[in-house]
Order: sequence, then C-alpha cells, then structure tokens
Amino acid sequence: MDLTSRAAALDTEHRDTDLRHLFRLPPGVYLDGNSLGALPAAVPGAVHEVVDRHWGQDLIASWNRHGWWSAPQRVGDRIGRLVGAAPGQVVVGDTTSVALFQAVSAALTLRPDRRAIVIDPASFPTDLYVVAGLAELTGHHVVTASPDGIPALLDSRSDVAVVVASHVDFRTGRLWDLPTVTRAAHRAGAITVWDLSHSAGAVPVELDRHEVDLAVGCGYKYLNGGPGAPAFTYVGHRHQAGYVPAIRAWHGHAEPFAMEPTHRFADDVARARGGTPPMLSLLALEAALGVFDGLDIDDVRRRSSSLTGFLIEALDELAPEVEVVTPRDPEARGSHVSVAHPQAYGMSQALIARGVTGDFRAPDLLRLGVGAPYLTHRDVLHAVRQLRAVLDGGEAEALDGPRRTVT
Ligand SMILES: *Cc1c(COP(=O)(O)O)cnc(C)c1O
Repeated sequence: MDLTSRAAALDTEHRDTDLRHLFRLPPGVYLDGNSLGALPAAVPGAVHEVVDRHWGQDLIASWNRHGWWSAPQRVGDRIGRLVGAAPGQVVVGDTTSVALFQAVSAALTLRPDRRAIVIDPASFPTDLYVVAGLAELTGHHVVTASPDGIPALLDSRSDVAVVVASHVDFRTGRLWDLPTVTRAAHRAGAITVWDLSHSAGAVPVELDRHEVDLAVGCGYKYLNGGPGAPAFTYVGHRHQAGYVPAIRAWHGHAEPFAMEPTHRFADDVARARGGTPPMLSLLALEAALGVFDGLDIDDVRRRSSSLTGFLIEALDELAPEVEVVTPRDPEARGSHVSVAHPQAYGMSQALIARGVTGDFRAPDLLRLGVGAPYLTHRDVLHAVRQLRAVLDGGEAEALDGPRRTVT
C-alpha cells in the first residue's frame, strides 16, 4: 500500500481518538506540541469566565465560591489520573524548575546520611542547573549517568541519596525504563525523582504501580495548559509524612489562616503547595484537561505510537538522507521523533515557512512532536512531503544561517 492509502487507512483505524474537534488549530501542521501544546477549544471561554465573573465580580469570595483554594489539588488529581497516581498525591503550582528544586531538596532530607545526587547528563538543562545549584547549597556532589547506566552505578556505591531522571529524553525522544531504574534505586536505598515533562499526557507512567517516590512535570506540553502553565508535583502517599521541601510557603502550612510565625507542614499532599498559585493559568490548565475526559492514557498512547511509527516510516521512505535518532521500537520512544541533519536549523525554518512547525535543538536535531489527540496520519505525511520539498529545493541550506531563534 502506498503512503497516501496507508495514512487514510490508519486515520480510519484510529478515528475514535481523533480529538481535533476539541482544539482550535491554526492552518498547517503543528509538530511542536512537546514544547507548547495546542489550544483546547474550551480554554478561551473558561479563562474569560475566570477573569470576568470570578475576578471581576466575585473577587476574594472566589477562593471558596469558585474553588480557587482547592484548585492545586483538584487539578493535581486530574493530572494524577493521567500519570497513574491515585487521588491525594499530586499538586499543581510553580514552574517545573521550582517543583524540581523542591522535590530534590525534600528527597535529600529523606536520605540525610547520603551525599550524592545522580542525574542524567542529557537532562533538560534546567534540571541540570537546578540540581547543580541545590548541590552547591547543600554540599552534595553530583554524579552523572545515563538512565540505562544508573542501575550498575547504584550497585557500585552506597552514598546515593537521590536519582533524578527524565522519563523521555527531550532531544532523542527515547523513553527510559522507569520501572527498572526505580527498582534499582530502591535496592540501593535511594529516592527517585522523575521528570515527566515529556510523558505526562502522552505516555502511561503508572507512578503508583511502580512505587515511584517523587515526580514533577510540565503543564504546557502534552497537557496543553498554555504558555507558562504551572507544573505538577507527585508525592507518593508513603513519603508525605516526611516530605520537607526547602521552600516552606504558606499554602503548604497545616493552618494557613492561623498566620503563625512558624511553619508547620500540612499532613497531606497539601504540604507540597507553594505560595499563591497563578490562578488564571491554573484554571486554564484545568479547562485544557477536559480534552482527556472519557479517554484513557492508553488510548492516547496507542494513537501516539501509531503516529510516530508512521512518521518514521514516511521519513525512511521519502527522506532517507535524514537520520532518525529516535528509537524505532515503539516501546522505547515517547511522543516525538527527532532527526539529525547538519542543516537541521535551516530545515526547521524552511518547514515553518511551509506551514509545518517543528523545532530545532542544537546542534543538529529537528524535533517533530506529536500531540496525538490533534494530529492525523495525513498530517504527518503532509509534513514529511514538505520536508522532501525542502530538501529537493535546497531551502535548508539557504536558511541555515545564524541560529538566533530558540523556540
Ligand atoms: C519543558 C521542561 C521543563 C520546563 O521547566 P520550566 O521551569 O517549567 O520552564 C523542565 N524539565 C523538562 C525535562 C522539560 O522538558
């Protein structure tokens, strides 16, 4: 079957999970949902309601009347469903960077006698920066290891307090073996902090089932929460009593309105709350999560695997000169496909000019993110055909100038 017929057949096969009607999509093909998810159609009205009625009319009463106070945990539970966390273990607020700082600092206090933090050197830079800064502050040392090397590393040393790893590599799209790394960490007596930024809303995680200790993740990628949407933090039930993050803010206090001079942690996951959350963004994220109502994360994953698999197939057939660096095994990849090419930057720019938005990651990667609910196999094929045209026309070379734009 040729690619056109295959795309049509696959779209028919996966029509149940085609949720394009729940989004507002601009013309063209958007392959950057792993950087900023598309706009769910319910969000503008929800934000308008929050601004106009909650803020504009009910003002301070909204904390109770419109559930502002409970929102970090309410929205947390909705994300929890997508990452395999039973209710009462996820809160939303702050950026991923701050959430990670908090989670790792708390993990260190859970292992006070140990002096090392292990992190994947290929982590998203902010994760590396946060861990380096925290280690400087506390006097811990940082050891780097790729997730597939972490089990062996842990078997060889007993001073590791915390293992910090990303479930999906933001460059290559490689999906790491979370259960194996988590088990190895526990054998070695270490705490795991997983960054789920590139898996939440795209890949099943099963945090409870795999007894992950702590996790954080981003709200504006596959969860489609909008620019700057707050991040989430998972604190497994068994760690909640001992969860002591470095920044103790008043919303995490046992009695926030007692206004006591000394901090006392709430005795549930509320202790992971920070200061006043960005309410407009938080409630935009809540509205965005409606896209997943009635959907199982396994349904999203099935669609995503089919789309990324077909994307690789089309690249192999139509653009064999680019090198697919994302694993071909669907079990070992997240929801984006990266290709390496010396003119990847020019390619990304030429594609944007043709209405196909992916992104460039230094030094030579073109990333094609698949927000499965709003993309079709036809979209994917169209994007690869545009890439073929870019290559045939020498458009990438012409645009491969100074790399100023970082999207
Ligand atoms: C996107 C992303 C972040 C973003 O951090 P912010 O502080 O929310 O900007 C952090 N970590 C990973 C792995 C990411 O992919």
